[in-house]
Amino acid sequence: MNRFSGKTIVVTGGNQGIGLAIAERFAAEGANLVLASVEEQVEDAASTLRDRGANACGVVCDVTDAAAVRVLYDRAEHEFGRVDVSVQNAGIITIAKVEALTEKQWDDTMNVNTKGVFLCCQEAIRRMRKSGDGGKLINTASGQARDGFIYTPHYAASKFGVMGLTQSLAKEVAPDGITVNAICPGIIKTDMWDYNDRVWGRLLGEYGPGELMEAWVRNIPMKRAGEGKDVAGLVAFLASEDADYITGQTINVDGGLIMS
Ligand code: NAD
Repeated sequence: MNRFSGKTIVVTGGNQGIGLAIAERFAAEGANLVLASVEEQVEDAASTLRDRGANACGVVCDVTDAAAVRVLYDRAEHEFGRVDVSVQNAGIITIAKVEALTEKQWDDTMNVNTKGVFLCCQEAIRRMRKSGDGGKLINTASGQARDGFIYTPHYAASKFGVMGLTQSLAKEVAPDGITVNAICPGIIKTDMWDYNDRVWGRLLGEYGPGELMEAWVRNIPMKRAGEGKDVAGLVAFLASEDADYITGQTINVDGGLIMS
């Protein structure tokens, strides 16, 4: 299927984990990809996609820096002439008991997970409005935008924030033919979960390495952790014409873990 042939798609956090799986899915469906990340390896990820025949470039960009975000979208327009879809996927997590949680952890988490999503949406919207062709914005929230977990109040707050900004922007830009939706991945096997498993496991006190993920997966009705490609399928749907009449929604992709 070449649903995204001729479309330009920005994916933040596109060099690894869920973001890379999303980029791979779009590349397989013919899109031009602009991958962004704070990490230098983002160019390697883009190069791998090019080796598979996709048009792709990598841009080192800190999504908390408005000037850098502007340069990211300038680069997308410079390389491919337009921006059709933007996936705000970059995110960070730290885990700490309330009295140990630092102000820096709070600020960093809110800055990347919430402000970073807003800055990218803002730049993408500016360009989509100018083109007059509409567009699609997809923001990565989390199961923690539905139900806060223990020891991550800052992360849960940042992801609830993503849901709020998604709804508010969706109302503003709907008349321009731009949709804005959010997704809530559950437990997805990535580097982020290696950290989660280790630190949550230690703080909860009853789990050795690997045991926490196993225990939480037992609560998933589908009895397995998710993979990047499970999330990529939902993102591709929301970016496609099949989702033209869907906006302001937050959709779970978690094997049934949270049903609200
Ligand atoms: P990951 O740690 O593998 O990847 C995170 C990506 O974000 C990396 O590419 C990193 O370079 C990028 N990033 C971090 N800070 C950045 C910044 N300031 N500017 C630009 N890029 C930055 O994590 P993942 O598991 O692939 O998570 C991707 C998204 O999905 C995150 O928003 C995360 O909160 C969310 N999520 C993940 C899970 C899960 O179980 N893995 C569950 C729910 C939500």
